[in-house]
This record gives sequence, C-alpha cells and structure tokens, in this order.
Amino acid sequence: MEKLIITVAPTGSVPRKKDTTYVPVTPNEIAETAYLCEQEGASIIHVHCRDESENPTSDYNVFKETVDKIRKRTRLIIMTSTSGVAGKSDEKRAEPLRTDPEMASLTTGSLNFAGRKPSIVYMNTWETITFLAKKMLEGKIKPEMEAFDVGFIQQGAKLVEQGLVTQPPHFQLVMGVDGGIPATPDNLLHMKNQLPDNATFCVAGIGRWQLNMTTLATILGGHVRVGLEDNIYYDKGKLAPNEEFVARTRRIAEELQREVATPEEARKILGLRARPF
Ligand code: ZN
Repeated sequence: MEKLIITVAPTGSVPRKKDTTYVPVTPNEIAETAYLCEQEGASIIHVHCRDESENPTSDYNVFKETVDKIRKRTRLIIMTSTSGVAGKSDEKRAEPLRTDPEMASLTTGSLNFAGRKPSIVYMNTWETITFLAKKMLEGKIKPEMEAFDVGFIQQGAKLVEQGLVTQPPHFQLVMGVDGGIPATPDNLLHMKNQLPDNATFCVAGIGRWQLNMTTLATILGGHVRVGLEDNIYYDKGKLAPNEEFVARTRRIAEELQREVATPEEARKILGLRARPF
C-alpha cells in the first residue's frame, strides 16, 4: 500500500474563536499550526483564510501573506481553497490561485449546507467549475476534486475526460455534511468504487464521523484529512488543537502498519511538480 498522506484542514469557513480558541485564523496562527502539524506527520495543508472579523475571505493579500508564512516555516504542500463561501464571484474565488499553490480544492457540484445557520446553498455551476479548473490547469496547480456526494465524482470524471484536469486525478470524499452523503462505511465504499481506476483519493468525515471515516480510509488505501475545518471535538466535549488530531491519525496509521508519507513522498505519490521556490 502507498504511504498515507495526512492533510490538515486547520481553519475552514465555519469554526470561530468563540467555538474553539484552538482555531487558527490569522496568517501567523495558521503558519504556527502548519509548523506544529508538520512535526506530527501532516504533509498537506488545506488553507482557508479569514478577515479581521473572522469571516471567510478569498482576498489575495491575506492568502499571499498566509502562504508565504507557511512556506517560510514548513515543507508542506499548500492547497488553497476556492470556496464559494469566501468568494462571491468566480474571479474572486480564483484569487488564492495567484499565490502559486501546488494544489487547490475544486468542488465539482452543488449542495445544501443544511446544518449552517442560516442554511446556504453551496453553488458550483458547471461554468464555475470549468472556470476554476482552467485556471488551475494554466497555473499547473493540481486540483483536489471535492465530492460531497456520488454525482460529484461523475462531474469530476467529466473534467478529466475533457482534458480540464490532468491524469492521474485526485479526489476528496467529504462524508457526512448535512446535505451531502451520510458518513457510513457502505457509502464510503460506494464512493470509492465510483472513482476512475487511476485516481488517488482522500477522505474527510464531518464532526463525530471524522475519526471512523479517516480510519476506514487508512485501511482502504486512501489518504486522510483531519483538522478543525471538519471537526473541533477530539472526544466528547473535549476540544483540541489541530496538531493533536494529526498526531492521533499518525498513531492509528502506525498501529495499522501503514507508513505515513513525508511532504516529499506525498509530492511523488500525487505527481506534483517540483516545489515552486
Ligand atoms: Zn475547505
């Protein structure tokens, strides 16, 4: 089995300091978290940024400062978000790509974020998806195609067929969003079975499903994402910093006799270009 790639998603769009003081929101806090998570075995950091009021932002300057600070302190693969929660227009959503990350997230469908207050529709029209895919192709940025449900995988495969995403494709299977596919072992197997043959995949589980979905992915030969974007509770009622989630993931993988990849090994597994600096 390939070595396990651990992605940390430390911030996301949702948790705030009032929810957990451990969530890093400033560029300095995110860079410090990146450093600590690298020490514990992470090889990718999935970056979201916030403005001064902790609201999600896709502002270039904030991303640039954050990415530069992470690069100064770590060898991590940087994967910027192109979330529609942070940026309103397609152009705005593409701004973080100007920081020249090695990877970026690309959600390949729309869904209800039914659990948010107020609930929102996460809109990703085919036009938006192909706009962002083309930007990534031009920048030689490898997309991580985010699938919140089964149909998203077919849309991702279509991007590959149309040459908008290069081979081999990489998917993120996000399990358990309220509005997306429920986080069950059967559902994860079904999602995995829909992937193109040569695809690599990572699994994220939301809330209390994080631990069992990432453990199952580790057994199935997938890669995993942990961090406060998806889940802030280490255990019932117990908050913890990102690095503790990474450390636990590593311990479980080692008990399961699956080695954990370094950032350089992860670059090889994913077929990334050389680090651009
Ligand atoms: Zn994200």
